[in-house]
Amino acid sequence: MSASAVEPGRRRFLLDEPEDALVSWLAERGRPGFHARQVRDWVFERRVFSFAGMTDLPGDLRAELGGAFDVLAGKEVERSSSPGGTFKILLRWPDGASTETVMIPARDGARARRTVCLSTQVGCAVGCRFCASGIGGVRRDLGVGEVMEQALRVAAALDAAGERLSHAVFMGMGEPLANYAVTVEAVRRLSRWLGVGRRRITVSTVGLPRQIVRLAGEDLSATLALSLHAPTAELRRQLIPWAEAIDLDAVLAACRRYYERTGRQITLEYCLLAGVNDEPAHAEQLAAIAVDLRAHVNLMMYNPVAGLPYERPSRNRAIAFLKRVRAAGADAHLRASRGLEADAACGQLRRRHELATR
Ligand code: SF4
Repeated sequence: MSASAVEPGRRRFLLDEPEDALVSWLAERGRPGFHARQVRDWVFERRVFSFAGMTDLPGDLRAELGGAFDVLAGKEVERSSSPGGTFKILLRWPDGASTETVMIPARDGARARRTVCLSTQVGCAVGCRFCASGIGGVRRDLGVGEVMEQALRVAAALDAAGERLSHAVFMGMGEPLANYAVTVEAVRRLSRWLGVGRRRITVSTVGLPRQIVRLAGEDLSATLALSLHAPTAELRRQLIPWAEAIDLDAVLAACRRYYERTGRQITLEYCLLAGVNDEPAHAEQLAAIAVDLRAHVNLMMYNPVAGLPYERPSRNRAIAFLKRVRAAGADAHLRASRGLEADAACGQLRRRHELATR
């Protein structure tokens, strides 16, 4: 399953190992298996990432573990934050690839919601015309350890601020269903090891019908979000090159199957691009799809990307669009815009870094 690029001769990357790997490693050395549980508690509950700090393990075992494994594999290259509390972490992996992870704060009634937005690939093959992550295509899939490390680093940063990670969305760089096995395993580990309830996890896809139907059978209880961004097949093909090869009706039929099988309401993600997909007719077409799927519409204001020709609509125009969608009978909201200052659009921080390095 692992796609992480671990160089030969390096220590093993603990987060990327199968669940029982540490138990087997301990057994080979005549050590009891419960030490694996202790290590996991140190890492996931106490956020201790060095074996030397795992003080209830025997000293010689700590040294041996430190010689055999690294808990984390990435290096934090940059962290940027915005006044609203959003922060991004740029991680570099041992093969030189880099990915970004975002923490998005929000309120859920009286409760604070802290969401990690996870990347699943280095770059993205989908190539949405308005997205920084798609520029340059995909370099490789991430491994499950690399996905978990993103979540763990955000959880640790939140701990330090006296806050707690509550939600996760697979909406960062990459198409999660193109890295299917890793995405499914990461959903399971997020819930089992990091305590993020599966109903608080969202897998966002540009729409791969076969994988959506397969996901419906995984018993994950995760929310499925479809990155629709255009209400007609023709406009979608213009904005999302992959849509050329994927029939929109087949995507919507797969979403319907997901809803029927899991009972989980689908979210339709729709990024408003000024003068492109934000006309009144688009609002009505979008609402018709949402009503048919009994889906929730999540409207976002575009975060401009340097070098790309798309613009963010005015807030008044976005609100008028929202009202039209609702008037046509769909359940919809406009996501509060955060973090223009923090290179908020997907892939922006990585792109800025790469341009600067060059
Ligand atoms: S918007 Fe998502 S699917 Fe599209 S190119 Fe960017 S990362 Fe890939």
